[in-house]
Amino acid sequence: MKITILGSGTSTGVPMVGCSCPVCCSTDPRDRRSRASLLISHAGKNILVDCSTDLRSQMLREAVQQIDAVLFTHAHADHVNGIDDLRGFYFMHKRRIPCHACPATLERLLQGFGYIFHRDDQSTHPPLLDPNAIEGPFELFGLQVIPIPLQHGSGTTCGYRIGPFAYLTDCNGISPASLALLQGVVTVVIDGLRWTSHASHFNIFGAIDAVGPLQAARTILTHLTHEVLHREQQRLPQGVEFAYDGMVIDL
Ligand SMILES: [Zn+2]
Ligand SMILES: [Zn+2]
Ligand SMILES: [Zn+2]
Repeated sequence: MKITILGSGTSTGVPMVGCSCPVCCSTDPRDRRSRASLLISHAGKNILVDCSTDLRSQMLREAVQQIDAVLFTHAHADHVNGIDDLRGFYFMHKRRIPCHACPATLERLLQGFGYIFHRDDQSTHPPLLDPNAIEGPFELFGLQVIPIPLQHGSGTTCGYRIGPFAYLTDCNGISPASLALLQGVVTVVIDGLRWTSHASHFNIFGAIDAVGPLQAARTILTHLTHEVLHREQQRLPQGVEFAYDGMVIDL
């Protein structure tokens, strides 16, 4: 299984429009962060996690030729607003892509992007996605996918565990039941946002503390803002690192 961090940035992306802070002006390519999403490649199949606002440029950057399934974490704009950019894959392959999301997220997707799922009478646009509501663990291309409920401010996010790997973006709380589902993970990618606190995201040390009991070999912080200079990674404890766009994890 190969994991690619497509986007490691918070909802504004980094640089943020209008900002000239040291991180937004950094020349380190790892400080240029597109909106958070992930690609899981396994057995010739590509699973996309979220349709970030930057989906098109991420697909072009990584030369992705096909998407075989989409998992959604939640329906915030930065995770779904690139959904139209899947259209190119439909034109190339002429097949609808199965997508999976918890029922509440699916409902919001159907409300906001009905045309992606159903053809309405006047439309000539073909539907792009087949919706599947997640009710529990399920199998995808020989991989077991375990949904992990996470607190995200006043809402919830669906994290995902696939074997030794977990992706926990957009969260500021992990219940004991969810932590139990994560026991034994080797690599965890988790929302670390920034150094200072936030009402709906873990900050850097909050994320490190939250997954501490798992004793994962690698903890990778993502959904980072322009408060975070990549080279300050040296301030992190051993085994903890910052995600960057294009980072590859082989498992
Ligand atoms: Zn987000
Ligand atoms: Zn800035
Ligand atoms: Zn969010």
